[in-house]
Amino acid sequence: MSTTSSSDLCLKCGICCDGTAFGQAVLENKDLNTATQQISLLDKEGKRILKLPCQALSDCSCTIYANRPKVCATYECILLKQYINGKVTESIAHQTIHRVKSIREEIETQLKETGNENQKEDIHARMRDFERDLLTRMPPVEYRQLHGPLLLKYKVLQKLLIDRFGVQFKSEKSSQ
Ligand code: SF4
Ligand code: SF4
Repeated sequence: MSTTSSSDLCLKCGICCDGTAFGQAVLENKDLNTATQQISLLDKEGKRILKLPCQALSDCSCTIYANRPKVCATYECILLKQYINGKVTESIAHQTIHRVKSIREEIETQLKETGNENQKEDIHARMRDFERDLLTRMPPVEYRQLHGPLLLKYKVLQKLLIDRFGVQFKSEKSSQ
């Protein structure tokens, strides 16, 4: 979620915070403050990691906005850049965000129906867990046949995130 001038679009989106686009964000030491103490951070290979979905997100708003980490303050997805530059209209930007959220919700519903309700994990980790679990119980061909519609939806989601938002699937939010 980026600067104030762009926050009108971001306030309707939040997909770079809610585990749709990324699974984590790497913080710098100078980001650590009383605000970031309110959200749980992980230590990984000497880095402080903010797991996404972020605990500071509330209805597309950042509850620690004034003290949010630098990576959050500086991150701008491709869609946002195009919106700011006037290359994408407000209507198209909102439609794109809506489409991504709708597909993610459909995936979540289907995951829930299979017993995967871990909403603390980002959608990509949930899909990986789902696949890993099922592949221990059935051959890959059967898995793809049984869950073809879900896998197809996930591919559409990934493509939208790559093409429209510039996500690179290292699953980590970083300044651009
Ligand atoms: S994904 Fe882009 S438009 Fe959405 S909140 Fe993040 S920076 Fe803003
Ligand atoms: S700290 Fe704020 S801007 Fe950063 S991921 Fe969390 S909700 Fe989003």
